[in-house]
Amino acid sequence: MIDLGVRAAAPGGRAYEIQDHTYDVVVVGAGGAGLRAVLGSSQAGLRTACLTKVFPTRSHTVAAQGGMSAALGNMSADDWRWHMFDTVKGSDWLGDQDAIEYLCRNAPTAVYELEHWGVPFSRTEAGLIYQRPFGGMTTEFGEGGAAQRTCAAADRTGHAILHTLYGQCVKAASEFFIEYFALDLIMDDEGRCRGVIALKMDDGSIHRFRAQMVVLATGGYGRAYFSCTSAHTCTGDGSAMVLRAGLPLQDMEFVQFHPSGIYGAGCLITEGARGEGGYLTNSQDERFMERYAPHAKDLASRDVVSRAMTMEIREGRGTGKLKDHILLHLEHLDPDILHERLPGISESAKIFAGVDVTREPIPVLPTVHYNMGGIPTNYHGEVLTKKHGDPDYVVPGLMALGEGACVSVHGANRLGSNSLTDLIVFGRAAGQRCAEILKPGAPQPVLPDSQTEKALDRLDRFRYADGGTRTADIRLAMQRTMQSNCAVFRTGEILEEGKELINKVWQSMDHIGVSDRSLVWNSDLIETLELDNLIAQAVVTVESAANRKESRGAHAREDFPERDDENWMKHTLSWADTDARTVTIDYRPVHSYTLTDEVQYIAPKKRVY
Ligand SMILES: Cc1cc2nc3c(=O)[nH]c(=O)nc-3n(C[C@H](O)[C@H](O)[C@H](O)COP(=O)(O)OP(=O)(O)OC[C@H]3O[C@@H](n4cnc5c(N)ncnc54)[C@H](O)[C@@H]3O)c2cc1C
Repeated sequence: MIDLGVRAAAPGGRAYEIQDHTYDVVVVGAGGAGLRAVLGSSQAGLRTACLTKVFPTRSHTVAAQGGMSAALGNMSADDWRWHMFDTVKGSDWLGDQDAIEYLCRNAPTAVYELEHWGVPFSRTEAGLIYQRPFGGMTTEFGEGGAAQRTCAAADRTGHAILHTLYGQCVKAASEFFIEYFALDLIMDDEGRCRGVIALKMDDGSIHRFRAQMVVLATGGYGRAYFSCTSAHTCTGDGSAMVLRAGLPLQDMEFVQFHPSGIYGAGCLITEGARGEGGYLTNSQDERFMERYAPHAKDLASRDVVSRAMTMEIREGRGTGKLKDHILLHLEHLDPDILHERLPGISESAKIFAGVDVTREPIPVLPTVHYNMGGIPTNYHGEVLTKKHGDPDYVVPGLMALGEGACVSVHGANRLGSNSLTDLIVFGRAAGQRCAEILKPGAPQPVLPDSQTEKALDRLDRFRYADGGTRTADIRLAMQRTMQSNCAVFRTGEILEEGKELINKVWQSMDHIGVSDRSLVWNSDLIETLELDNLIAQAVVTVESAANRKESRGAHAREDFPERDDENWMKHTLSWADTDARTVTIDYRPVHSYTLTDEVQYIAPKKRVY
């Protein structure tokens, strides 16, 4: 038996205190996806633990503004089949249609459950859940007829959902390990996940969680970019753990730019602002979206609007002294409506742009917002890899959910308000799957020590790193490279340069220096671990983008401007050998079938709005 506490790399062979825990299910992450899975699993009588590096209600989901889509039909005609059609079209046909059917069919039930648990949705006159129009939703419902599908609690929907779910989890006796930083998965020799190893941030003790099922719900990696709407904690830790476990990530080239990040600050102004009647103009006061998307206009899908804005700026019609941004107008709307339905963004505009939205427009710019790519899963949340020739091989003992996962319902471009739906519907599905396949209290084998050893070696490598380059400098180099070489528009040349630059940044991790060696709230160390997680994902993002020679959804190649279904209607899988620092790419077929015969496969056509 190795003495895991005594570390060779540690001066004086300092011992870590290691504590072991056993649960039926361990969920890493307490955002919307994690909490919904924790709740389902706890309610099914499985002993469930939730690990989170921030207090649950500080997860990025708390910042979600506009709402959650579900075809309730409260304020316009609607049907889940329309929701499915819009989502398939929004995904530019890269989404798996069995999973999209599952998402849209189950969305109304998922919303009503939240309502009954206490989410304070805004209301219509008749007392029903208020729903607003969002981008990419069908405009076929008659007079001015956009579907109104996005269920909202003013513009603080994520806040309402997260607080409600946390309360319900506490009620269901779920156990929380708060401010525990998950380091790595514990995999056995057969490739089964057995648990997860974590660092308790306030005292530096090491905790091994053994579980029948580990669920990763660690969110996206927006912070790989310089300007993004996501929290500083969005570093995709779970996805990087998956790469280190020798498993692939999927469709990482698809990064969503949201049209309305506040210029300069990057904070989000929800698409709901355009849903409530806001519109964009260029320096000539022109409502230019009418040229790019004659029907949907300002409510075309996000990739389309972000590209249009970028074109306007490129062609010299940007606003401001530097002609480098666009204006979003809300000042024509009734101040009472702004106050009632968009109070949060009115406040953000005041604080971050100095703008009173009732009087003047908000300066905005496309800003990184969401990662369509992530850990490949099926619609139960079970993690997939390609093994023995099977592209849908289920990795035993491991699930992934939320923005860190790729089900794939969003394909090449996510529709606004479909992420919250994804979190809740698949979080719920994962809980149900756990209830179906796990037995409460079933015996579990002893954890393999070799994996613990490996994870602690990595921890010590950074903790005692004494190179000459600061974490913040390497992070900035990564963020600038991603921002300039893997942006809204891409070319082969820029991506090849990007590959070279980002690999150089990756190599520079050898020269990193961490000055704080302590274990009590060592933010220098935590940020370094997060950077190591980010850089692996940044590299596979650029490599996957350079590899995909077509334009689809958010991946717009100027040298390959058309979608190419013949050669590229397939998911990219990317593996990273984080020791040798190499990337391997392969593919999985897109699921071109539905779950039931109540709906048929929606065949690809040209995507126009
Ligand atoms: C500003 C903003 C507004 C948005 N508005 C909307 C909207 O209106 N509608 C919509 O559908 N989508 C919206 N989105 C997108 C959506 O909110 C996110 O995609 C979604 O909330 C992600 O949820 P999640 O559960 O996957 O992860 P998160 O909410 O990001 O939570 C991640 C969790 O993982 C934990 N974690 C991460 N790493 C570790 C680690 N190493 N160890 C332990 N714990 C860890 C964190 O502590 C946290 O609890 C918005 C996004 C942003 C940024």
